[in-house]
Amino acid sequence: MKILSSGPGLGLTSMVGRASIRLRLFASFGILLTLMLVVSVVALQRLNALTVAIDHLSGQQARGAALAQQANQYTQRAAVYLLRLLQTPSRSDRAPLYSGMDAAMAMSSRAMADLTMSGVAGTGGKPVERLLGVRHAFEEAFLETVDLVEVEGLAAAREHFDAKTDPLMAQLIDAASMMAEQQQQQVQARAEELKSDAARARLVILLLAPTALMLGGGLAIAIGRSISGPIQSAANIADAIAGGRYTCHIPEGSGPELTTFMRALRAMRDNIASREKRILDLAYVDVLTNLPNRTHFVEAVTRAVGESIGAVLICDVNRFAPINNALGYQVGDQLLREVGDRLLTHVGSAGVVARLGADEFAVLLPGSDEAAAISHAQSILATMHAPLSIGGQRLDVDASIGIVMFPRDGENATDLLRHGDLALALAKRRHEGFALGSDVADKSQHEQLTLIGEMRQALSRNEFEPYFQPKQELSTGRIIGAEALLRWRHPQRGLVPPGTFIPFAEHTGFIKEITPWLLASVIRQCAEWYRAGLRIVTSINISTLDLTGRRLVIDMERLLREHRLPPGMVCLEITESALMDDPEIALRHLCELADLGVKLSIDDYGTGQASLGYVQRLPVHELKIDRAFVDQVDSRAKSAAIIRSTILLCEELGLLVVAEGVETPAEMEWLAANRCAVVQGYRIARPMPADVFIDWVGDRGAAS
Ligand code: C2E
Ligand code: CA
Ligand code: CA
Repeated sequence: MKILSSGPGLGLTSMVGRASIRLRLFASFGILLTLMLVVSVVALQRLNALTVAIDHLSGQQARGAALAQQANQYTQRAAVYLLRLLQTPSRSDRAPLYSGMDAAMAMSSRAMADLTMSGVAGTGGKPVERLLGVRHAFEEAFLETVDLVEVEGLAAAREHFDAKTDPLMAQLIDAASMMAEQQQQQVQARAEELKSDAARARLVILLLAPTALMLGGGLAIAIGRSISGPIQSAANIADAIAGGRYTCHIPEGSGPELTTFMRALRAMRDNIASREKRILDLAYVDVLTNLPNRTHFVEAVTRAVGESIGAVLICDVNRFAPINNALGYQVGDQLLREVGDRLLTHVGSAGVVARLGADEFAVLLPGSDEAAAISHAQSILATMHAPLSIGGQRLDVDASIGIVMFPRDGENATDLLRHGDLALALAKRRHEGFALGSDVADKSQHEQLTLIGEMRQALSRNEFEPYFQPKQELSTGRIIGAEALLRWRHPQRGLVPPGTFIPFAEHTGFIKEITPWLLASVIRQCAEWYRAGLRIVTSINISTLDLTGRRLVIDMERLLREHRLPPGMVCLEITESALMDDPEIALRHLCELADLGVKLSIDDYGTGQASLGYVQRLPVHELKIDRAFVDQVDSRAKSAAIIRSTILLCEELGLLVVAEGVETPAEMEWLAANRCAVVQGYRIARPMPADVFIDWVGDRGAAS
């Protein structure tokens, strides 16, 4: 994306662009001010010149006119004296006239001299010369007339005056007025000159002002653009970044401020991009293994489901908890990383490998059919089996896999993952490496999936209820115990058997909520019976997860104390698989429970392996032979042999032996004949609600 157009442009433009914004502003305002100054100075100068010229002109005109007038006045006054002189016959009377006449003549001469000196004469040309010439001639004639008065008498003088002096005086007045006229003409011409000067000045100012205005405006626009353009581009870039378009091009920027700004913008973009990537990573990547996480996997499955067929493999590490607990989290983490690596190496580009959580991984194989998915699962299990060395410690890794096919086993990621979990749980239960989604239960898959979803509500809505199945002592026929078996009284489905939901409650960890509730409910019930005089040892089934923490021990201790129930009235049934998952921790907690005085029973005996090892290490009280062996024991030699040897073993070890799932009288007889101590099964009674059970016991007679 190109946001800033940084075309070649003019040399000036690029030069302006490179300058700093401050410099650009200084320069533009500087140029504007200079232009204004030039216009003002030119205008002022022109104005000054005009004023001076006008002053000068008016001064000169006034002075010239005044001097000419003065000269004329004094000349005329002298002429008046002369006329009076010519009419004064007495010499003595004439004497005072001479002095007035001389003074007037002197004043006239001075005015004339001033006129000459003032420069008016210099520029006056002919009229002035003429005036001076006539003035000179008049002065000579005047003096001649005066001389004639004294030498030849008044008549001759008068004659001379009339003939020469008077005409010269008329000429003089004429010349003076001519000069004044000429002066006026000159002034007029000069005024015209000044007028055109002023017009020129106005034109210059008129031209200069808009030019300056245009220049200034152009400059302002150019500078404005050179600043606002990049800022607009920066705003566009910021918008692009805000919109998540981190690949947008950010130019270098022209000028120091914009270069810095663009650099900061680039750093900001890169930082936001890397932070967002980190956040995305955290949201989509499992930090421990660097594999996609559940969210990412769900999205990948959602996409794949819409496109074609395929498979999802849910892979769980067996006995991860004991490794984690015994060898520490660092080893556990390393093990998980190794498992992730192995899955990734195996799957390669054929699919997506993700870590869903804890020790659960998932593989998406788009386009894969069931045969291919099974073959993948088998080779994954084979790769997992390769021993692993962590911190010099050799570990055997083992996994279970649930395989689901889409769209057959689910049309969306949620259903597929749940179904995959069911298949995984099945694989674990069967101790088989993998199980298929199609193997999961006979109930409709949809029903199972919704049940899992509803399980949580069931507990808060009090929909769970313990049923009790009696345990009968064969030698006496008395009911000496009962096994609490969980039922779910579903508002729509009616009574739901535990086989439908317990495996998933175990797999999802929800069993950790159910068991404490069941324990409280059963102990309360058992204490009630005990106070009523019944001596019935009540058994409770517990799961692997119940033994991972101390909660069971703490709850048990508190409940026994609260209900004042002798601990020996409670028995915990443990399956071998519950022990195998994390033997050390489970054994420790079981020992603590046994220390309280609670009885322990090994459930489903014979279906697993290494049973005797645990019998040896645990303060076990009872052993329950799995109903698979009890079934038709009277006609099956193999089952008979197993049960017989188990009974012998229990006698040797001092354990109470219980045969469960006794259905037929023949089985009962066989067990009695072979000294089986206790029996449990439909032959005696089906599991019943507490009140039904107590009535049933009342009818049959229990141990008291
Ligand atoms: P389990 O502990 O082996 O319980 C005995 C199961 O055998 C019960 O099934 C019982 O109803 C059934 N049963 C008893 N007599 C006969 C018989 O003569 N013939 C046949 N075919 N079956 C008989 P249920 O109640 O469906 O329980 C199934 C399993 O669910 C139990 O197996 C146990 O593993 C689990 N479970 C039941 N209640 C609880 C519980 O409260 N907590 C836990 N953790 N698991 C439970
Ligand atoms: Ca049981
Ligand atoms: Ca059992």
